[in-house]
Amino acid sequence: MIAYLRRHLGIKLFLSYLIVILVGVVILASTTQFALPGAFERHMLRMGAGMGPGMGPGMMNAPGSGLGQAEELYLNFRASFNEALALAVFVSAALALVVSMIFSRGVIAPVQDMMSVSQRIAEGHYNERVQVRGEDELSQLARCFNTMAGQLEQIETMRRQLIGDVAHELRTPLTAIKGSMEGLMDGVLPATDETFGQIYQEADRLSHLVDDLQELSRVEADTFKLDLRPVAVMDLVNSALGRLSRQYEEKGVTLTSSLPADLPLVQVDEDRVGQVLLNLVGNALQYTPAGGNVQISAVRDGDEVRIMVTDTGIGLPAEHIPHIFDRFYRADKSRSRRAGGGSGIGLTIARYLVEAHGGRIWAESEGEGQGSRFTFTVKAAK
Ligand code: ADP
Repeated sequence: MIAYLRRHLGIKLFLSYLIVILVGVVILASTTQFALPGAFERHMLRMGAGMGPGMGPGMMNAPGSGLGQAEELYLNFRASFNEALALAVFVSAALALVVSMIFSRGVIAPVQDMMSVSQRIAEGHYNERVQVRGEDELSQLARCFNTMAGQLEQIETMRRQLIGDVAHELRTPLTAIKGSMEGLMDGVLPATDETFGQIYQEADRLSHLVDDLQELSRVEADTFKLDLRPVAVMDLVNSALGRLSRQYEEKGVTLTSSLPADLPLVQVDEDRVGQVLLNLVGNALQYTPAGGNVQISAVRDGDEVRIMVTDTGIGLPAEHIPHIFDRFYRADKSRSRRAGGGSGIGLTIARYLVEAHGGRIWAESEGEGQGSRFTFTVKAAK
């Protein structure tokens, strides 16, 4: 019985209402029984003052009159009063019980609704929502519950999409490696340096992809700590130039920088922002044909500094610009692969890192063949 009570909020509520009603009834009955004789005598006295002898003080015990008229009157009055009281108690208690049942249901129904919906969500039906009625705390709880369910649904969609995307990305190099190995085993492909070179390239692509995925999961999970310090933009730029200038020379693309002398220090994690800049300068090299130019520049903008990487490369069609920071998005898959492009994760990681610094990152391009400009903002050091 107690265990049953513990498990049912509705019964608990109902019992609490019942106890309040019973306490009310007991207090009503005992107060009236206690107060009735005194009140009766007082009123009779007042009447007696106007009715002459026999109706004076102590009339109910008055000798001679015995259990006279007054006492009989009192007993009859008490009996009729008790009868009326019993009826009133019965009717009001019955009504109170009905009302309390309705109220208990009003509280229990939304809770039960949330319970069954949460069970459905746990079973994988992420599109389930509870009905929200009214503005009280229970309705607010239902609203919060729906928000939580919406977020769970979004995470689940992203998870499914990620698994699909990763499987798709892994399949391409794996199929190429498998095909080449089968060709080698069947003797269809010659065991030359070229064949081994192709297999190596695909394996290399796989290993880059896995590294990128690991980095992506780290930045998406927000598990990295930023070591914010005042850093000179010049140091960031020099570090990117140092790491990529040889590759620029090899491809025949010019890499220059232009920084105003009064540029303030920026408050950043040097390694992380260096990684963003390296990614943008690396992309610019990848998507700029030989003979082109890439320039790194920066300007102060209020309490921020804008860092820009501008190239004269293949450019970006307008319809792709809003998506290139999305995971696995490539403006043109075949073009990107031909141009030695990667997995389409680099800009996603860059966006996470810039946003973790409280900055923004965006791309601009006049269109295909017109070059592109990637800009990100960071806070100036105080
Ligand atoms: P990827 O590893 O494929 O380069 P990114 O996330 O770095 O992936 O870039 C996403 C896509 O954005 C690229 O596939 C490419 O289509 C486009 N892109 C990036 N940088 C440039 C650029 N400088 N010029 C033209 N297109 C670019």
